[in-house]
Amino acid sequence: MNCPTCGESSQVLRLEEFWRSLSQDAELKRDVRQPDEYAARRLIPLGLLVLAGFVLSAGDMLGLLIVVVGLGCGAFMWRATAAAQEARERWKRLLYCRSCPAQFEP
Ligand SMILES: [Zn+2]
Repeated sequence: MNCPTCGESSQVLRLEEFWRSLSQDAELKRDVRQPDEYAARRLIPLGLLVLAGFVLSAGDMLGLLIVVVGLGCGAFMWRATAAAQEARERWKRLLYCRSCPAQFEP
């Protein structure tokens, strides 16, 4: 596989493999690391839905607003989790050129 930037092929390797080869205190180790997972706080939308249940059972229509906020919160977390997962999977596919240094998909 040739690097699309410099055309070099002997210096191209998988980014994950390159990252593992770096020493723990290497500055590049942090810069080229795999993106973090999104830490979803699922208790927030769940808690809002439970609270909405109590409010609605008390006959207060404010519970509907809390349901909407809870569902919106859950949808946002679901999308953020999916985006983070996609970024992590893309990182595993990336190749790295030690010559220029470019990151690119095969
Ligand atoms: Zn290159």
